[in-house]
Amino acid sequence: MASRFPRLYNLEQNKKVLICDKWRNNSLVYEWRRQIRGGAEEVELSSILSLLNTSVLSDVPDRWVFSTSNLKEFSVKGVRTLIDNKSLPITTLVTRWNRSVPRKGNIHMWRVSLDRLVTRNNLAYKGIDIPFIRCPLCDSYVETCDHVFGSCEVASYVWAGVSNWLQIVLLASHGPTELLQSVDMMQISMEKKRIVEAIVFCGCWSIWKFRNDKVFNKGKQRKEYIINSIIAYSYLWVSNRIKKKHMSWVEWLSNPFSFV
Ligand SMILES: [Zn+2]
Repeated sequence: MASRFPRLYNLEQNKKVLICDKWRNNSLVYEWRRQIRGGAEEVELSSILSLLNTSVLSDVPDRWVFSTSNLKEFSVKGVRTLIDNKSLPITTLVTRWNRSVPRKGNIHMWRVSLDRLVTRNNLAYKGIDIPFIRCPLCDSYVETCDHVFGSCEVASYVWAGVSNWLQIVLLASHGPTELLQSVDMMQISMEKKRIVEAIVFCGCWSIWKFRNDKVFNKGKQRKEYIINSIIAYSYLWVSNRIKKKHMSWVEWLSNPFSFV
């Protein structure tokens, strides 16, 4: 009242009175020090009357309202949504978060899906002077995310091996998007799908780890190592996050779906 209608507040005799005490039977109870004069005072009076005539005063105490939330109440989630909507680019990509996968695996897959890994092609695109843009795994094609996780002969070998282990078909020749879509299209239960997705996340993580080891540590591991790595790491990831029952390493090797 004092800040919005300073002239009326100045005229008010009881500075602590509430608006609800002055608004009775749809009219304002006047207790001014003197009569209202024209000009700014009349404008303020007219403004407060029109405001009160279109408002419903309730008995609940005054409270702050979080205007961006449907619930009108402050929540961390509401703030996060507000910041995301303002700052993140509009995309049709839905962020996948697999709860059987540790944070590093989920974030890695998120970066793969957005083509945000530091592939040689992305480095060159950013204007960084690098001697080669060819894939360090096959040395035959430009290193892009779609290639490394899809059409590269190493990736093809890995996904064929994983498909053979799971006894399902993973389509990956066009890259990670096709790979994840092939998981979505599978006619299996949601629980099984979550395990397949976790293994796919682990597969991409293991391929990239293998690639980095080759590039930065002159790693001499053979591509067969990647499949063994996927089976071992996905066991650790999934078995530590599924509470349903304990699964032995031997069970995981023979049939990872016996978890569900
Ligand atoms: Zn390649």
